[in-house]
Amino acid sequence: MSAPALGELLDGLHVVTLPLRTRFRGIAEREIALVRGPHGWGEFSPFVEYGPAEASRWLAATIEAAWTGWPDPVRDAVPVNATVPAVPPAEVADVLARYDGCTTAKVKVAEAGQRDADDIDRVAAVRDAMGPRGRIRVDANGGWSLTQAHDMLAALAPFELEYAEQPCADVRDLARLRVGLARSGIDVPVAADESIRKAEDPLEVARLGAADLVVVKVAPLGGVAHALEVVADCGMPAVVSSAIDSSIGLRAGVALAAALPDLDHACGLGTGVLFGADVSADPLLPVRGKLPVRDVVPDPDLLAVHAAPADRLEWWRDRLDAAFAYL
Ligand SMILES: [Mg+2]
Repeated sequence: MSAPALGELLDGLHVVTLPLRTRFRGIAEREIALVRGPHGWGEFSPFVEYGPAEASRWLAATIEAAWTGWPDPVRDAVPVNATVPAVPPAEVADVLARYDGCTTAKVKVAEAGQRDADDIDRVAAVRDAMGPRGRIRVDANGGWSLTQAHDMLAALAPFELEYAEQPCADVRDLARLRVGLARSGIDVPVAADESIRKAEDPLEVARLGAADLVVVKVAPLGGVAHALEVVADCGMPAVVSSAIDSSIGLRAGVALAAALPDLDHACGLGTGVLFGADVSADPLLPVRGKLPVRDVVPDPDLLAVHAAPADRLEWWRDRLDAAFAYL
């Protein structure tokens, strides 16, 4: 199917404001734009601070979803993980209880304003709640220096981590960290997230030996087909994650996870749980630890109920216009 003209994208644009149950990335609600093409619905929801060049990759993923379609799936369901924000230990059990049947948890660490002991206590509470068979990964979002990362992973290793996601911001530090951990006999694999999706060259991670596995997100990588290429070129196991998407955006993540030749880890696509409302009457939420590979459509009433104010619709139209120029 040929690519849409700008007018087609703008004409069918819906913008919704969806409430989050817990603040995430410092926001309490999420603005999301949706378009409908001949192939279905596509989400366009780059974070509001992103400029047009970065947003254009998200738009390419939107167009793929609504106009082009995705590669065929090789599985019919995708295992997903729970996400534990930087909450106090006493809240951990409640957070985990929202994720039906999830046996893997991703725990946010290195949050600004928190102490190392807060992270250790939170991970301990998660291990307690999940028992010895649960898989626990931590995500520092690049918040540690090389030394801090080494020390914190030494302190967290006894809780048996599946991996540590983006412990340091710099890709060369990730490579040094892996060497240092191996020398110290600390068995915590390193996953690259921001080093893949925010990098000019996502393959630098592989060239530098900076990670054991990669986290990939559909929208920042410009679509499912391109994300599959990145994973194949990196030659590492991959975990698919979301960017606080509605069920329409999550559906694209499911398409990627379902099309990966190998999938050995739970994916970060259970994040529908973080929302207080969704655009679909049958949202993509984890059931027995999985999301099914199935179509998702917005409900017209929900699009109306959650419609953003007219000035925000205008803002998103301008934004889409600016991003389109970079395609
Ligand atoms: Mg991450």
